[in-house]
Amino acid sequence: MNDRTTGFLKQAYREYYFRAQDSIELPEDVGSREFGYFPFGGGMVRHLSFRSKGDALAEILRQSPSSVYCSNARYEFPARPMDEKGWLGAELIFDIDATDIPTSCKKGHDLWYCEKCHASGKLPRPAKCAKCGGPAVEYHGVCEECLDAAKDHAVRVVGFLADDFGVAPEAIRVYFSGNRGYHLHVFDARFDPLDQQARAEISDYMRGSTLPPSQTIAATLRRKMPAGPQGAGWTRRVTSYVAEHNQNYGGTLQRLVSEAVASQRAMVDASVTTDIHRVFRLAGTLHGDTGMAKARVKAVAQFDPQEAPVVLSSRPVKVQVSFYPRFRLRHTDFGPFRSETVELPTFAAVSILTRGLGEVA
Ligand SMILES: [Zn+2]
Ligand SMILES: [Zn+2]
Repeated sequence: MNDRTTGFLKQAYREYYFRAQDSIELPEDVGSREFGYFPFGGGMVRHLSFRSKGDALAEILRQSPSSVYCSNARYEFPARPMDEKGWLGAELIFDIDATDIPTSCKKGHDLWYCEKCHASGKLPRPAKCAKCGGPAVEYHGVCEECLDAAKDHAVRVVGFLADDFGVAPEAIRVYFSGNRGYHLHVFDARFDPLDQQARAEISDYMRGSTLPPSQTIAATLRRKMPAGPQGAGWTRRVTSYVAEHNQNYGGTLQRLVSEAVASQRAMVDASVTTDIHRVFRLAGTLHGDTGMAKARVKAVAQFDPQEAPVVLSSRPVKVQVSFYPRFRLRHTDFGPFRSETVELPTFAAVSILTRGLGEVA
């Protein structure tokens, strides 16, 4: 990335931060949080702390970084090295990424490309580029289908929290991640002291990965077929699905049970939920790869991830693109581009520039 491109990105992000200061959700107990950020073109800076919301906001505006993070944990001394911070508890968090959810659309928009000659092709990615021997990297696109699937899984997490863990709906905040998924923050003090192991149990439960194997559940059901939902939690989910679908079902009961689990589990990223020292993207700030905001989702059904989080300006910028697959934002298609100079709205140019596949012309 050349200086001109870095300068352009920094200016575009700064413009947003000045305009949208009120959408940055700094926690009330800002003094006990660890902050971190990535400057454009630099390595991560972390173990920062601020005395007040005003101080934190001033630093965000001054740096206009590529990404801003804040710990879900509270510490006695947030700026000290990890083992001296004095951990006081951490909010329960979840991350759902469309990339982790198997959808049929992936083969249409995921590909590999060569970083050197920009040859590209269908996945799986070769060890190296057949044309020039350069490094082959994966590109994961996104479309309405996988964004809908990610949203569906976020709704399932809300369901698990409310129905199985007794969390009040107002204690759950849902955000678009700024890229291709959703983040959930749970403000319920019962979870704050939990260690990694306990958090792993919660994420495994939601992923359906610690259930008895489907043949065991099927064997139990065979002894007594449910006429309707029974019990609570996963038992309720599985029995209600089986009761609803077992008439005229062609497959085995075991297969029906597997379907019941697959259609109701939430593919949360276990490594995020179990990390009690994480710095997590700060709500209201921009994603460093996309320029989209980590945006609060109030009414999930009405939320449009192609529209609401696209907050950078539409001001046109000329970009010399070496290679970029077709993508869609604000319900408009862009690309594909190959060795050409194109004029794009700022909000669409960012992803190309941050990936190093184009420079401001
Ligand atoms: Zn190549
Ligand atoms: Zn897709």
